Amino acid sequence: MTARIREFLKRRTQNGPCLVVDLDVVRENYLGFAKALPDSKVFYAVKANPAPEILRLLAGLGCCFDVASVSETQAVLAAGAPPERISYGNTIKKESEIATAFALGVTLYAVDCEAEVEKLARAAPGSRVICRIRCDGSGSEWPLSRKFGCEPDYAADILELAHKSGLVPHGVSFHVGSQQHNIEAWDRALASTASVFRGCAERGITLSIVNLGGGFPAKYVRKTPKLESYGKAIFRALRKHFGNALPETIVEPGRGLVGNAGIIEAEVVLITRRSPADEVRWVYLDIGKFHGLAETIDESIRYPIRTTHDRDQTAPCVIAGPTCDSVDVLYEKTPYPLPVSLAIGDKVLIEAAGAYTATYSSVGFNGYPPLQQYVI
Ligand SMILES: *Cc1c(COP(=O)(O)O)cnc(C)c1O
Repeated sequence: MTARIREFLKRRTQNGPCLVVDLDVVRENYLGFAKALPDSKVFYAVKANPAPEILRLLAGLGCCFDVASVSETQAVLAAGAPPERISYGNTIKKESEIATAFALGVTLYAVDCEAEVEKLARAAPGSRVICRIRCDGSGSEWPLSRKFGCEPDYAADILELAHKSGLVPHGVSFHVGSQQHNIEAWDRALASTASVFRGCAERGITLSIVNLGGGFPAKYVRKTPKLESYGKAIFRALRKHFGNALPETIVEPGRGLVGNAGIIEAEVVLITRRSPADEVRWVYLDIGKFHGLAETIDESIRYPIRTTHDRDQTAPCVIAGPTCDSVDVLYEKTPYPLPVSLAIGDKVLIEAAGAYTATYSSVGFNGYPPLQQYVI
């Protein structure tokens, strides 16, 4: 909780849950990446939080952007970044979307199959192509595994097709899984990446860039290693697999740039027990899975929750959202300890909620409005 957010919440008069993001924290995080990974350019993964204020701040700091759609591309351009600072990282694109992005000036695209290369050759001729390879996502809390990326052995074929189609085979990308706890997760992916570089070299194609993806954690309930340790482990892995011929590298943090910059204030709507003797209480908040806390699916992300009674004794609770859908339960398998003195009407603070919340909120399921966001 920053002093600026505390002041803002004190003065806020509207009702309903809200997310407050402190731009000072986003700036610090950006500078932190420059320090921990000094040789890697930062491409902010816009999907984590596309608030215009965040995009403008980062554009002004010289940051580059990873986008997944035409409207994210337009949002980045509107924030003042030129198209040369955009990487279109989604491997799943309509040809019409590629054509629009290309007309807007974007010339760097990710693919993971031949059909996508063919689309690019037609809709974005001459562009640079990065091939995404598969990563199993182990060690991460929010894997991005099976849906994306070709088997590493196949990547050289895809990049060779790009070459033959008049595109520029530029490099390899992967994503080790979001909220990755294991700093060594990049090592295996970089071993595969280096083999793709060699495979391409044998075919006379020189690759120049490795996109190291995201995966850098925010601090939730569980402890995470420091960003510095990630930087060091990645550098060691690059040296091990590429020797002195180090490729150019980029990183695409989403969560690591904005996660800890935001706090959700919510309210306790109801506290019940299923029978008078039950030890476990059910605590219903005015925010749930449908209004910003989608990453509690499978209890993947465990947010720190603060109350005004935090010095009191705690007891295990099931925490749920307010909607009439039984999916809308945040923590049940692993009950969440909350103060026994917590009462209906109390405010609670859900920390590290700056990433993957506001845009995950439904437009009005069950009549609850989308999560209100303030960027200060
Ligand atoms: C979502 C995404 C990211 C950001 O991942 P984080 O774990 O939030 O840092 C980066 N790259 C791509 C291609 C993504 O889809």
